[in-house]
Amino acid sequence: MTATFSPGAPTIDEGTLVSTHPATGVEAGRFPVATPEAVRAAVERGRTAGAWWAGLGFAARRGRLKRWASLLADRMDTVAAAINAEGGKPVAEAIVELFAAIDHISWAGRNAERVLGMRRVKGSLALLEHAAYLEYQPFGVIGVIGPWNYPVFTPIGSIAYALAAGNAVVFKPSEYTPATGQLLADTFAEIVPEHPVLQIVHGLGDVGAVLTRSGVDKIAFTGSTRTGRKIMAAAAETLTPILLECGGKDAMIVDADADLDAAASAAAWGGLTNAGQTCIGIERVYVVDAVHDTFLAKLVERATALTVGSEPDADIGPITMPSQIEVIRRHVTDALDRGGHAVLGGLDAINPPYVQPTILTGVPEDSVAVREETFGPTLTVTRVADADEAVTLANALPYGLGGSVFAGRNGMRIARRLRSGMTSVNAALAFAGVPGLPFGGVGDSGIGRIHGDDGLREFARPKAITRRRMRSILPAMSFERTPKQVELIKRIARTLHR
Ligand code: NDP
Repeated sequence: MTATFSPGAPTIDEGTLVSTHPATGVEAGRFPVATPEAVRAAVERGRTAGAWWAGLGFAARRGRLKRWASLLADRMDTVAAAINAEGGKPVAEAIVELFAAIDHISWAGRNAERVLGMRRVKGSLALLEHAAYLEYQPFGVIGVIGPWNYPVFTPIGSIAYALAAGNAVVFKPSEYTPATGQLLADTFAEIVPEHPVLQIVHGLGDVGAVLTRSGVDKIAFTGSTRTGRKIMAAAAETLTPILLECGGKDAMIVDADADLDAAASAAAWGGLTNAGQTCIGIERVYVVDAVHDTFLAKLVERATALTVGSEPDADIGPITMPSQIEVIRRHVTDALDRGGHAVLGGLDAINPPYVQPTILTGVPEDSVAVREETFGPTLTVTRVADADEAVTLANALPYGLGGSVFAGRNGMRIARRLRSGMTSVNAALAFAGVPGLPFGGVGDSGIGRIHGDDGLREFARPKAITRRRMRSILPAMSFERTPKQVELIKRIARTLHR
């Protein structure tokens, strides 16, 4: 076992970012690192491009986004190959990721006018002479900073919705997945060749930091809570609005009347898909006493059957970021040192760049394996007296992103009590694939929402307009009102609100 392993760490070679496969080190592509001047120039170009794009109107943008979705559907194999080449993600998982992302592009295009377009709003009885209107106008240029774990699905949650709302986008992909990001920008440019509406800037975290301070009209970030805090602090200097999709430590609750086969299958997939490198991945499972042992046996059976490796058809690929191996090792070590048991995997399962599925039981609630984001193929399974105790423990962390409940009668009731932005009942992660549902967290998991109507509104500012349609009968908002009219205003207020 090696302490460090880094064939997959991207390097900078004479101003060029070199992307490589996390297990083999095979080069996946080279991309010029953007200088601070280049980042600012991209934002400036985005201003003109954004004004043109906004001027196209909803129908024309819907058409372009539909064609982009269609082009990406045609190129699924190419994009999935890029995701595999630099992130190590198994190809089947990459295809599932792409399918969901394409669906979001199409949904955002189709629904933008309904959610953001000009509409009449009911007026006020006291101001009957004014008609009221509301529309949501684009911000201008949105800076999108993306992560490496879902290098298409996650940034598309911001990019597609920002574009549908009429904004230009400057996108900084993770240094681990620049080739995939470049494919997104290149395919969009095939559909929208007239102006650089979606631009890409490559580099390390410092390029993201420059983008945050580059004068963009909003910054949409997905990544760690630690970096999210830095972005919020930087954005505060210029009052730049932010959207933060940060980490999580999502819990699954298994109640006594749950379908245990379905629960075990969902826990295995929800916790181990993408080698556990999923912000909404299940990391903790709370199981009521009566079904704990049966559930655990079924989960271990399923997790044992999974294949780990770099073959394109493996179930679980390598850990993408070499430094993550040490985080996983620290969490497993702490869990075992504090009295936990590895019923599957454990420290021997960590063979960089791979980590075999690891299932831990009896882990104290104050250990790092329970409290901090592990981002590896590990699950803690904890016995609880009943669903109430499970809810209390699930809600005990500062994170609150997603979660899952397996139950017969009380599924919806338990789901509503979970302090998180999203929950799936009798499934794991299902909410992420429903474009109409907002996606985002509470507390340390972030601020704001992508996806759904809320995700479209996130990339537009409300513009309220009143239009006088007749003379005022009661000139309340004028120095011309008489004392008699003030009395009348008092009478109306009392009639309406007493
Ligand atoms: P980061 O939060 O550091 O990176 C996310 C994105 O932000 C990347 O594009 C990164 O660029 C960029 N970035 C880094 N520093 C800055 C900065 N100061 N200003 C602006 N942008 C910046 O996550 P890591 O990739 O380092 O992963 C660390 C941990 O974060 C993981 O172990 C996991 O726990 C969590 N994480 C959660 C994700 C989620 O989906 N919620 C996604 C990714 C990580 P670059 O890659 O070039 O450094």
